[in-house]
Amino acid sequence: MKRVLLIGGTDSSGGAGLARDIAVTNDYRHLAKPVVTCVTAQTNTAVRLIHEVPAAVITAQINAAFADTPPDAIKVGMVGTGAAGDAIADALTSRNVPIVLDPVLKSSSGRTLSDAGSLQGLIAIATLLTPNLEEAARLSNRTFANCDAELSVQAEALRKKGAKAVLIKGGHGCGDICCDHLFDTLDRHRFCLPRLTLHKRGTGCSLATAVACELASDRPLRDACRRAKNYMQNWIAGHDRNA
Ligand code: PLP
Repeated sequence: MKRVLLIGGTDSSGGAGLARDIAVTNDYRHLAKPVVTCVTAQTNTAVRLIHEVPAAVITAQINAAFADTPPDAIKVGMVGTGAAGDAIADALTSRNVPIVLDPVLKSSSGRTLSDAGSLQGLIAIATLLTPNLEEAARLSNRTFANCDAELSVQAEALRKKGAKAVLIKGGHGCGDICCDHLFDTLDRHRFCLPRLTLHKRGTGCSLATAVACELASDRPLRDACRRAKNYMQNWIAGHDRNA
């Protein structure tokens, strides 16, 4: 059985965060090793409270998760605004396990979940960074623009910060087709599927976790991203059918 280390926040509404990450990991029949960075009180429309777990407690959780059988992949989601980002980066450096970093800066209701500054150390060691269109613009200090040339500029800026590859998610774009754009080494790959109209929370977290689950099974990165997108499409379509 493969093991996936899931570092992120809890969401009491169940729509996003660690509960979603664990559900995805269960779908892959991998073992989830959860590390809690923040406890949040949320409804589906508002973040009411955020309690940040002290950095030393996060570090202790990560070290314990590596102590017996180490994980095969790591997904990092919400880290908060304090010292957690640097503590996590320190605890993960030199582990030699692929890291998928989902830079969740804000909830859809607009509350700050992670601070861009607190993510810099993690971006520097990420195997794959998975920003949405807004996060890609913000983290690369550019303005929002969903056009191919600009996305290349933003991805290159993020790769210069250390991320080995960048997957810019097109879910917040418009049009009938939704494309995610993967920038690795010198190449760019697009993964495009029909846009599904149902808006579900937690799709960003789930996609990043699905990529981590694919990498845990030793899939090459491009394959992992393509398969994870298909997994998400089926998940959203399933919810569409049941709506
Ligand atoms: N809460 C937590 C703990 C999360 O990790 C995330 C996203 O990863 C969110 C909230 C944001 O979810 P949404 O954008 O669907 O509100």
